[in-house]
Amino acid sequence: MAKIKGNIVVDIERCKGCELCMAECPTGTIAMSKEVNHKGYSYAYAARPDLCIGCANCAIVCPDGVITVYKIKI
Ligand code: SF4
Ligand code: SF4
Repeated sequence: MAKIKGNIVVDIERCKGCELCMAECPTGTIAMSKEVNHKGYSYAYAARPDLCIGCANCAIVCPDGVITVYKIKI
């Protein structure tokens, strides 16, 4: 059976830096940026992308729906 790996894409200009996604990620994939977006918010990004399992917790919890999760067969 093929293994599944995840990958996320964050629409960083729409992120408001609430950190809910980081809190709900079971694998510690997400961190908050040191830089800010045009609204002045630190934004979520995949700091450790190799750990992502594609569970989509982050996308479900994001109040603004700015995370897209991709699943990749490996
Ligand atoms: S899909 Fe799951 S493992 Fe991947 S970043 Fe989101 S919450 Fe973390
Ligand atoms: S939950 Fe959404 S708005 Fe909040 S930090 Fe994560 S990506 Fe940004």
